[in-house]
Amino acid sequence: MDSARALSDARPTPFWLEDPGRPEALSALVGDVKCDLLVVGGGYSGLWTALIAKERDPSLDVVLVEGNEVGWAASGRNGGFCAASLTHGFGNGLQRWPTELAQLERLGAANLDGIEATLKRYGIDAEWERTGEIDVATQPHQVEELHEIAEAVSRYGLDITVLDADALRAEVDSPTFLGGLWDKEGVAMVHPAKLAWGLKDACLGQGVRIFEYTRALDLREYGSGMAVRTPYGRVFARRVALGTNVFPSLVKRVRPYVVPVYDYALMTEPLNAEQLAAIGWRGRQGLGDSANKFHYFRLSADNRILWGGYDAVYHYGGRVRNEYDQRPETFRTLAHNFFRCFPQLEGLRFTHAWGGAIDTCSRFSAFFDTAHRGRVAYATGYTGLGVGATRFGAEVMLDLLDGARTERTSLEMVRSKPLPFPPEPVRWAGIEITTRSLDYADRHGGRRNLWLRTLDRLGLGFDS
Ligand SMILES: Cc1cc2nc3c(=O)[nH]c(=O)nc-3n(C[C@H](O)[C@H](O)[C@H](O)COP(=O)(O)OP(=O)(O)OC[C@H]3O[C@@H](n4cnc5c(N)ncnc54)[C@H](O)[C@@H]3O)c2cc1C
Repeated sequence: MDSARALSDARPTPFWLEDPGRPEALSALVGDVKCDLLVVGGGYSGLWTALIAKERDPSLDVVLVEGNEVGWAASGRNGGFCAASLTHGFGNGLQRWPTELAQLERLGAANLDGIEATLKRYGIDAEWERTGEIDVATQPHQVEELHEIAEAVSRYGLDITVLDADALRAEVDSPTFLGGLWDKEGVAMVHPAKLAWGLKDACLGQGVRIFEYTRALDLREYGSGMAVRTPYGRVFARRVALGTNVFPSLVKRVRPYVVPVYDYALMTEPLNAEQLAAIGWRGRQGLGDSANKFHYFRLSADNRILWGGYDAVYHYGGRVRNEYDQRPETFRTLAHNFFRCFPQLEGLRFTHAWGGAIDTCSRFSAFFDTAHRGRVAYATGYTGLGVGATRFGAEVMLDLLDGARTERTSLEMVRSKPLPFPPEPVRWAGIEITTRSLDYADRHGGRRNLWLRTLDRLGLGFDS
């Protein structure tokens, strides 16, 4: 079958957000309120900040405002790979913070355990499955790279299983698989929207006041705290935490550090027993291939396959627009690549196709700071690996607002920032050359051209 035809009934909306368990939106803020802590943004970043703030001090009066509905953005439409890594993967961490990587890995593992414990504590059913993730090589040079990573990982005392082609295909069968690295502990699969909605419930249960369809329009100092204007009211807060991800930061100087990059995903119909038997996948691991333009794929609780990634699209001017969430040419490419990976599933159909914006920064992992004399904190730049790391970012924001020197705030990773992106049109041109160079490398045995090698030397890059 023409792979595009498998898309003909795909609904242009994130599978996860169509769930019948989607909660009703809460009312918008009307009038003025006062609080100790205002959290702006109702994705994981804001929800974790509000929840952990209440856990640290139940007497704190916490308000959260969300411009749309809780979990509608990246947090409700992602792949649901919840990783321990705080550094957008081990390789990126090794390149940037080799001396503190062991510490970062330890903190990341504790963070992932903390997420699991929170789900248990509040009875959140987010279809959590601690399956681990397999990085898959589909080209010979990637097999070598995986072995190099395995060796580096073992030097840090981390446990990773190397799979040759046969062992990998015994786990998940694709004729394109040449080998893999299985991180059994460091990644869990989750239903992303149920995680966001569950955190929302937990926040409400702890007394957080949440207002949806309440965009924070501006931020200014007021007495010893901050005042935030919303369409129908104002919030006067002693402290403010910004979990606004890829959307224009209320602290303007943060904006040049983040660009919106669109990432896309398909969801298939549920596989029947025969189709499942044809691919194996009894361990239900998350999978990702090792190309620069990579795919990520996993099973849902009802045995659909989510298949995403590959194209990472930047639009001139760095705009975030709802219409960018649909990109038929990318959906066709994804569908084509899906059937190349799993030819035994010929005839399977896609039920959903969607996209969303990722907050890419030039070092691929989040950065943090305060503004307005320590009254406002922000965390952004998670670059496509924020499902787990946003909880760590929430802790950092709260530490910073407390003015506390903690293990987290002492980290070089937390104290430093990425390089900002240049203004347009240089930004667009630079990203375009980088994207093309990465594509070229994927097609030519991983060979990085002069442009990529220069960026590597400068510690700069573009990823999703
Ligand atoms: C298609 C896709 C796939 C992904 N896959 C994965 C994955 O498998 N694993 C992984 O780790 N990461 C993945 N990510 C990234 C991950 O989803 C994000 O890193 C994470 O959800 C970020 O959470 P957040 O709360 O910072 O941002 P968001 O979920 O974007 O939340 C920010 C919220 O702030 C609100 N907001 C913004 N400005 C204002 C304002 N002025 N006033 C009020 N509200 C405001 C927005 O409306 C939004 O709801 C993926 C992302 C996408 C788009």
